[in-house]
This record gives sequence, C-alpha cells and structure tokens, in this order.
Amino acid sequence: MSILARARSRPTQPFQIPQRLFSSCASFSRAWLPKYTQKAGTSPHYPSLRLTVHRSSTWLPPQVRRQVSHRSHIEAMASAPDETYLIVGAGIFGASTALSLIRKYPAANVRIIDREPFPCQLAASWDWNKIIRAEYNDIFYMKLALEAKDHWENDPMYSPFYHVANGVWIQDTNMADVISDNYAELGLPDLVKRYTVEEGKKIYDGLFDQAEYEGIDQVLVSTGTGWAEATKALTKVLQEATEAGLRHVNGNVISLVFNDAGDCIGVRTASEETLTASKTILCTGAATAKLLADSAPYRKELHAGGRFIAAAMCTALMTPEAEACAHFKDVPIVLHERLHYPGRGGFIPPTPDGNFKWWADITFSNLTKHESGEDISSPPTGPYQGQWDVPESFHDEMITGRDVIFGEKAKHFGFDKYRFCWDAISRDDNFFIGPHPASKNLYLATVGSFHSWKFLPIIGSYIVKMLEGTLEDEYTQRWAWDREIEREGAHGYWPKRDWKDLIKV
Ligand SMILES: Cc1cc2nc3c(=O)[nH]c(=O)nc-3n(C[C@H](O)[C@H](O)[C@H](O)COP(=O)(O)OP(=O)(O)OC[C@H]3O[C@@H](n4cnc5c(N)ncnc54)[C@H](O)[C@@H]3O)c2cc1C
Repeated sequence: MSILARARSRPTQPFQIPQRLFSSCASFSRAWLPKYTQKAGTSPHYPSLRLTVHRSSTWLPPQVRRQVSHRSHIEAMASAPDETYLIVGAGIFGASTALSLIRKYPAANVRIIDREPFPCQLAASWDWNKIIRAEYNDIFYMKLALEAKDHWENDPMYSPFYHVANGVWIQDTNMADVISDNYAELGLPDLVKRYTVEEGKKIYDGLFDQAEYEGIDQVLVSTGTGWAEATKALTKVLQEATEAGLRHVNGNVISLVFNDAGDCIGVRTASEETLTASKTILCTGAATAKLLADSAPYRKELHAGGRFIAAAMCTALMTPEAEACAHFKDVPIVLHERLHYPGRGGFIPPTPDGNFKWWADITFSNLTKHESGEDISSPPTGPYQGQWDVPESFHDEMITGRDVIFGEKAKHFGFDKYRFCWDAISRDDNFFIGPHPASKNLYLATVGSFHSWKFLPIIGSYIVKMLEGTLEDEYTQRWAWDREIEREGAHGYWPKRDWKDLIKV
C-alpha cells in the first residue's frame, strides 16, 4: 500500500473519550489507572516490508519516488570507494551515517569514534524516549518526517521501538492552520483536529481541565504522532552497522588534525592517538563548536561563529509503580508550549519499563571565554557533563511544567530523577550537513536543534549523498555552512539565558 493510501486510510477521529480520570490529588497515581481506550488513530504497524510510493507523489524526495525495500534503502555497491571514513560521534547523526555508508559500501573502511562504548550516555540521542511527529510548520521537515515515520511504522528494524500515541498541543501560535495547509499541499488528510479551550478541557475525559489556558485559543490533537524508545533504537542501528563492518574506537577527540594546506586528515585523541581518514565527519552534537575552535583557535573561518551553539534542556522522570504504569501507556503525548509564559514543556507516555519522561522547553547556554577570544557555549567538563547534577531551581521549573498541564490534580506526584540533555542548536533550527568550506575533507553532520532524533532511520542516506556530492540542491542549501540565516526558528529554543546567571554561587 502506498504511503499516500495508508495516510488516507487512517481514521481522522482522534480518540475515544475515556472515563473520568482524576478523583482527588491523593489518588493521582491511581487516577491514571483508568482505561484509556485510545483506539481510533492508533495506526497498526503495517505488515508490508516494502515501501511503495506513488510515482505521482511530488512531495517525496526523489530517492523514495520509486519502489524500494527498507533494507535496501541505499543499494549496496559491489566495490568499496577509495576512501576511508572517520565518523566522530555515535549519536543519531553518526549512527545513521555509519549504517548508510556501510550498507552502500560494504567493503569500505568506516570507523566511528566516541567517548564511551555505544550507546554513549553523554549524547542527546541517548534517552528514554523521543517524540516522532510530522507536525512541522516547515513543510521541508514535514516531508522528511513523513519519510522517517514510514520507517518507524513499517520497517522491522525500527517498528519494535515505535509506539503510537496521539499528540496534544496546548500552545499559542497559528501552528494548526499552517500544519493543515501543509497536509493539504502534500495531498494528505489533515491529522490535526482543533478544539476550543472549552472543548479542550473535556477531551480525555477532562484530563486537562485544570491546565493553564491563559493566552490559548485552541487545543490541537494529532493522530499522526508517536514516540520511540530512544536508546534501544540507537543501539540497534549501531549493532546493525557493526555487524555489517563498522569499526568502533573509544576515545575523546581533542582536536582535528590538518596538513600544511589546512586540509583535515583526521583527529587526535586525549590518549595522544592520531587517527587518519580521507573523510572526517563531525557528528559531535553539543561538542561541535568547541571542538572546531580547540582544533585551530586562530583559524576563525573554521569556527562556528554565530551559526550554532550548545544548549541544554532539563528533563525529568516520574517512575510510577508498575501497576499504574501499565495504565499510562495510552495517555497522549502533551506539549504545553506558550512562548511567553512560564512552564513550557510536556511529557511522553511511559516506556514499557516504567520511565515517564517530562521536559521543560526552556534552554540555556554555558558560555565560557575560549583561547580564541570567542565566547563559546559547551557542556560542562565535569563527570558526565554534570548532566545528573541538576540544581533545585530547575526542579521548580519542572514542577511548574507539571502544574500548567494538570493544575491541582498532580500536586503530589513528584519527579524521581533529573537530567540536563545537551544538543547543538542553530538560529534557524536547521541542521548542518555539508562540507566545511574552510578545510577540505572535513564534513559536518549534526546540529539537531532539539528536533532531529526522529530522523534516525533516514538522515544517514542524505549524509552519504552529501559526502558523494549528489545531495539535491534543496537539501544542500538548507543545511549549508554558508546559508543565510534569515529568521529565528519557529520553536523558540535558541537559548535566552546562560548557566552562570542561573546558578547561585
Ligand atoms: C531534552 C531533549 C529532548 C529532545 N526530544 C526530541 C524529540 O522528542 N524528538 C526529536 O526528534 N528530537 C528530539 N531532540 C533532539 C535530538 O535528541 C538531538 O537533536 C539529536 O539527538 C542530536 O544528535 P547528534 O548525533 O547530533 O548529537 P548527540 O546525540 O549528542 O551525539 C553526539 C556524540 O558525539 C560524541 N562526541 C562529542 N564530542 C566528542 C569528542 N570530542 N570525541 C569523541 N566523541 C565525541 C558524544 O559523546 C555523543 O555520543 C531532543 C533533544 C533534547 C536535548
């Protein structure tokens, strides 16, 4: 069945209203027990392994405008190219690149280096779960996300980690209209349903009737969303690539290595090892800007400048008891996102092992003076980047996030664990995938801007095309080092505060 046909066959009714949830504060956790019966809109995992795409679908990138099996998304080449590939960083960009490369060139010399054996807990890609959604204002990413979502739903490599769940947005922009227009432009059914605030208070049997609605006109519910068990899926991709011939190196890269002409010839590690390659691909996430500057402090043309910086978000876990957890599984994904109010954030339904993840959508940077003279944001240098040492003030932000969604109902339901998760973000929310113009044989494939995880199944195929010089113009320009950054990204994650202003000394 074609993607289009599948999308058309999806039910448009978002969910059935379950029975009343919360009876009192004290029984909050038990109150989740009720029988969510989210049936409509929960697409089954389609049994077909083959992705058949309408030849007439103009919205799909060319490489899926043909019949292609998921496993041969990139056809294997008989002989290896005369290249050695060194991928720095085993997050989603690195892992997806590795798998795509090794599948296309099974005999090639492809290595991946990271600071820990995979999966590395320092990565933004390491996580309990991540949202998979195609609801983008930007139709470019919507098309890309639809392509990725098809793998999450249908590809046996990814679908075991994917869970369907409606997405509820309580937010104050015209996002619903833009997304509906995008669906119309793509010739697809509109999976987003709008509710007035009064109607929104009644959905899910009044689950959100005490939410904060100041500044809100509409509540949106999408039946096109889901979430993935993040670390497990990432591990699977790396395992698959390893079985196909990817080689791993453990090491902390402290600098790039250049020849006399300034071309990149590899990397040097903290243990003074030098690894050389004909193509070095930086998939280093939040560490990228500092690594570039550390590598050549006085070659400013090599540095990120204002293009992207490292930023963090606070996440937190509730770990409800197993019995309660079984009943959480069908709650929707919720995003309460008002740009100018406190408490921005949301939650994803719990993983099968009982981790119920929340996050606060308020980022911060960690700027320090670099020897180059620039202020560069990077994750702290302490053990585990200090990601598990979250000060009390952030606990309060998470609690505000909980309260703007549930009001009094959840007052006695606390968080058990907090984590800072670091990512690289660009001003326009676009990734950086392309050659570095200031150093031959150096490539970037990173800057996920807090929304790239969902592209794990497909982003590597675009990166391989970039490495080969065959990436279509639209993508090349979008992700280029030298693109014009005209406006700030729609989701408002560019950090407006810095760590030093947040900690009380
Ligand atoms: C809190 C939070 C929630 C998010 N939620 C979602 C979501 O729901 N859906 C979604 O689609 N996206 C989401 N994202 C975005 C997504 O997780 C990131 O954009 C993506 O994981 C970035 O991948 P990456 O490969 O660029 O970087 P990373 O995953 O950070 O990987 C970089 C890797 O490089 C390694 N590395 C760095 N420096 C060195 C060095 N010097 N030497 C050796 N190795 C090095 C690191 O150890 C790490 O393993 C979220 C991000 C955050 C922070």
